Amino acid sequence: MTQIYNFSSGPAMLPVEVLRRAEQELTNWKGLGTSVMEISHRSKEFIQVAQEAESDLRDLLKIPANYKVLFCHGGARGQFAAIPGNLLGSAATADYVDGGYWAHSAILEAEKFCAPNVIDVKTVLDGKRAILPMSQWQLSDDAAYVHFCPNETIDGVAIAEQPAFGNKVVVADLSSTILSSPLDINRYGVIYAGAQKNIGPAGLTIVIVREDLLGKARKEVPSILDYKVLADNDSMFNTPPTFAWYLSGLVFKWLKEQGGVAEIDRINQQKADLLYGVIDKSDFYRNDVATSNRSRMNVPFQLADASLDKLFLDESYAAGLHALKGHRVVGGMRASIYNAMPFEGVKTLTDFMIEFERRHG
Ligand code: PMP
Repeated sequence: MTQIYNFSSGPAMLPVEVLRRAEQELTNWKGLGTSVMEISHRSKEFIQVAQEAESDLRDLLKIPANYKVLFCHGGARGQFAAIPGNLLGSAATADYVDGGYWAHSAILEAEKFCAPNVIDVKTVLDGKRAILPMSQWQLSDDAAYVHFCPNETIDGVAIAEQPAFGNKVVVADLSSTILSSPLDINRYGVIYAGAQKNIGPAGLTIVIVREDLLGKARKEVPSILDYKVLADNDSMFNTPPTFAWYLSGLVFKWLKEQGGVAEIDRINQQKADLLYGVIDKSDFYRNDVATSNRSRMNVPFQLADASLDKLFLDESYAAGLHALKGHRVVGGMRASIYNAMPFEGVKTLTDFMIEFERRHG
């Protein structure tokens, strides 16, 4: 059977070792004669899963003790509402950096809570899409926090700079980049990420929040989005997505076995270098993002002759390279190459691209 490599942007591929382990223990987990999905979230067995997942995540990301880790529902879009609900307090505005599709979506949600100060950081560098350097971001003095998205999953645009805004509370949507490279958590007030790209199955959302930011939610904020309520209840205020939590825990263990975030960062760089290298060497393929703002996780690319798009997608699919169709708002192709995508997957893709160009270029 052809080896399948799945380049989906999310839900995305998971490490095969993790899936095999889940398969093995699916119907008889820990000798209980039942699956992990069918037991109480308050049982001692599940609480152990929950605690291990948290402590492995803390190890992987070196999360300082004064941060809470919350395992939530509602996806990153749920957090688009939770952030203003928890952090605005009596402030009338927050800074929202607009660098692409998802940052913009967060702004639309924030508008339900306040009048966000929108900072459009999109620019053009040598004819390519780029983001203004952080030193040029016009933050306002009266903003409760500054929100930005370091990796735009659809646009394929990334902000590599680390935030350094003095005492400002920095909030970041890391949905498509969490755990792909080391992170200095101390620079952030809140980090959040939907699990379905670099963590585990859809249904789980990770929030890492500095303790002093708890307990400030506006009273109309639903309890299920209130960080203090979630923290006080060890993320079990209501029934959590137990299977997604369990599976994410297996992914954290897998990541540790790979050598942790520093090692996966090295491999991610190799994968991105290989793919962008092939795109840049040819006139047949093109990526229109400035080198300094290219995403290592989501690589959009176009064929110079768009009439070949369908053939490219059909043939790549037949070769076992799945889900390469670009997002409907961008078109062309997109290869999402998160942690679980092995180097060989990207090598197989680039070999295919070179061969496709030879035949149709
Ligand atoms: N932010 C980013 C950066 C994303 O990539 C996505 C999903 N593609 C979202 C937010 C929305 O996530 P969810 O579907 O979990 O609400």
